[in-house]
Amino acid sequence: MDTLLLNADGTPLSHVPLSVVTWQVAMRLLFLEKVKTLKEYDNWTIRSQHLEMKVPSIVIMTEQVKWSKHLKYSRNNVYLRDDFTCQLQTTWRCKESHGKVKLAELTLDHVVPRSRGGKTNWTNVCTSCKECNSEKGNDHTVLPKKMPKKPTYYEILAKRKKLPIHIRDEEWKFYIDWPEDLIKVMPQPGEHGHK
Ligand SMILES: [Zn+2]
Repeated sequence: MDTLLLNADGTPLSHVPLSVVTWQVAMRLLFLEKVKTLKEYDNWTIRSQHLEMKVPSIVIMTEQVKWSKHLKYSRNNVYLRDDFTCQLQTTWRCKESHGKVKLAELTLDHVVPRSRGGKTNWTNVCTSCKECNSEKGNDHTVLPKKMPKKPTYYEILAKRKKLPIHIRDEEWKFYIDWPEDLIKVMPQPGEHGHK
């Protein structure tokens, strides 16, 4: 994503996930005067037949948005809640590694299987390794070590902050509250022609 979206008070609208939008959305918000540009990319210009515009890197809301710290259910947030650890740990290989498997080996397990009407939500889904998950199959008597709960925004934020964050522009650093050594700046986009 291209553009950092700040609330009128200069803090990001959200940290998990970081409030970033595509340049197209940023442009639309600008035209609607919902936001103002704080900083543009030096070397990234959008051209159409009638228009040439620098892509905004940071925009700020013209009015403060009241924003409840609502935490979205997502695969990644479930992994974060469970510390990227398999919660079943039924196979010997998984037990041996205390459920710490590679990210590519992780999947989501429905405590009550979907085939039995189990929902996809915070309290019925936990992190599982693929091995334990396939061993469990549809055996609903296999339960996670602790039953999944809905975390708070701050619990997930604290866990997320221990992991690197990738940003598009060096200057975002001043606005995001993140450990300095975990901020990775991605290469700046070059000039893009826009048809
Ligand atoms: Zn496992």
